[in-house]
Amino acid sequence: MKKTKTSRALPLTANARTVLERRYLRRDTEGKVLETPEDMFRRVAKTIAAAETRFETGLDPLELEEKFYRMMTSLEFLPNSPTLMNAGRELGQLSACFVLPVGDSMESIFEAIKNTALIHKSGGGTGFSFSRIRPANDVVASTTGVSSGPLSFMKVFDAATETIKQGGTRRGANMGILRVDHPDVMDFIMCKRDQTVLTNFNISVGLTEDFMDAVEKDAEYELRNPRDGRVVKKLSARKVFEHIVELAWTNGEPGIIFLDRLNRDNPTPLVGEIESTNPCGEQPLLPYESCNLGSINLATLVEGDEINWDKLAGTVKLAVRFLDNVIEVNKYPLALIDEMTRANRKIGLGVMGWADMLILLGIAYNSPQAVQLGEKLMKFINDQSHEASCDLAEERGAFPNFKGSIYDRPGLRPIRNATCTTIAPTGTISIIASSSSGIEPLFAVSYVRQVLDNDILVEVHPLFEKVAKERGFYSPELMKVIAEHGTIQDIPEIPEDVRRLFVTAHDITPEDHIRMQAAFQKYTDNAVSKTVNFCNTATREDVSTVYRLAYKSGCKGVTIYRDGSRDMQVLSVAKKE
Ligand code: ADP
Repeated sequence: MKKTKTSRALPLTANARTVLERRYLRRDTEGKVLETPEDMFRRVAKTIAAAETRFETGLDPLELEEKFYRMMTSLEFLPNSPTLMNAGRELGQLSACFVLPVGDSMESIFEAIKNTALIHKSGGGTGFSFSRIRPANDVVASTTGVSSGPLSFMKVFDAATETIKQGGTRRGANMGILRVDHPDVMDFIMCKRDQTVLTNFNISVGLTEDFMDAVEKDAEYELRNPRDGRVVKKLSARKVFEHIVELAWTNGEPGIIFLDRLNRDNPTPLVGEIESTNPCGEQPLLPYESCNLGSINLATLVEGDEINWDKLAGTVKLAVRFLDNVIEVNKYPLALIDEMTRANRKIGLGVMGWADMLILLGIAYNSPQAVQLGEKLMKFINDQSHEASCDLAEERGAFPNFKGSIYDRPGLRPIRNATCTTIAPTGTISIIASSSSGIEPLFAVSYVRQVLDNDILVEVHPLFEKVAKERGFYSPELMKVIAEHGTIQDIPEIPEDVRRLFVTAHDITPEDHIRMQAAFQKYTDNAVSKTVNFCNTATREDVSTVYRLAYKSGCKGVTIYRDGSRDMQVLSVAKKE
């Protein structure tokens, strides 16, 4: 696309421009791109600022539009993809995350499939618990036949997702959850062994504390038919746990989520129980809730070798207002979702560029200082976002389900949003911001990219290139070696301290990954998206140890990936768009 003068002023990389042009910018019916990236940010800023007119806030929407615009064009903050794509356009659906209920009846199951189709068409991802569906081969009264069970219905959801493909913008993404005490759990654990099935699903087993206790004690636990609550059988908890580990070791799935922990943090227990999360696991939601996410690019907050905390506080405040406004102007795909979302007003403010920030500060990702700083930083963001949400409540009222919520206690101020913080994967928006994604370590220091005409391009992490040039060890040949090698840890030309700083996802231990996840989880209302990378030679025992560590250290779930174990990924960062 021809670049205009103004759009060149934005600090966007060539990759970012390509992604925006392919997926985000408005087009005419013939596919011609109608807006520049600048126009896109203007469209978003204007639409989200327009929500102010609904409240008597005394704020000038035009002034606010300018602030939102600056916050996005400086790449300090970006909302989730559907907001960038759809704000100010006919579709107008702005949330990334939805959870739909699936009951134990044909009506309920196919109602959920219909609603899934509507959500996918609008660019959102869906999560479901299939735990209410009676097990396979159970009785069906109306036909005196036998039921087909949750797994066979999941295949119908999968096929529907495959067909929709979200109008070409995003392929659909689903999370499927089954409780560990559902009688079909063993089949569920095994269901993605064949990597060609359920390709539009991420799956996670919903673990309970009773189950984890039974694993520790090497005891049996009960599996119940959800139709009548009767105990159908007992299994050895340790055997089931080992099975989950075995399959996760084999190809990265199923993941696990800790259901009791999600519900302990459920802000509105009187409204419902949390049974599922969104597709990438970071956003637990009640049935029919949706949530919009946004992420602060931490790399933009480092000045010299320090964090500008004042600037961070200002960005958090503005971002919370932005995300609350999104709830107002959002066009929901279903009336029920509209109602639930507005009643709890959950938002998910998080971060990206954490690994970049650490490099700029001269702190190695896998060091105790990094974990400490992660905790301090997220506490700050969490506290500030709650402050901002309480200020909004004074201005606009608390969320309608506030009464009876965990915030409804003497001494606490009313709050506008039932949750404020979530750490999203930022798979695509981190490409737009050209930052490291979420709280993940760098994936590579330099890598080879194959471009259209089969040319090989070596791309080097800009901070690494800078250091390499400053310290005098830069050469195109070395960058190529690194790209082919994957890690710089055993390249002697590179000074020790630089090697230490530029560690990648595979250079650090799985325990390092979990420690960072736990540090951020400690001060995050919702959950943290994180992949724990294992090297190819890791054992099942290693995976088991990390699962237990995650449980002990307060994580809400775990997703692992053993290098080279899968040739195809459902929702990998690279394949997702
Ligand atoms: P982005 O960077 O595009 O804003 P993230 O990678 O942070 O998105 O993912 C956030 C959430 O968005 C996911 O957990 C999921 O709910 C939803 N999502 C991501 N990719 C897709 C997709 N291809 N289709 C539908 N929903 C998606």
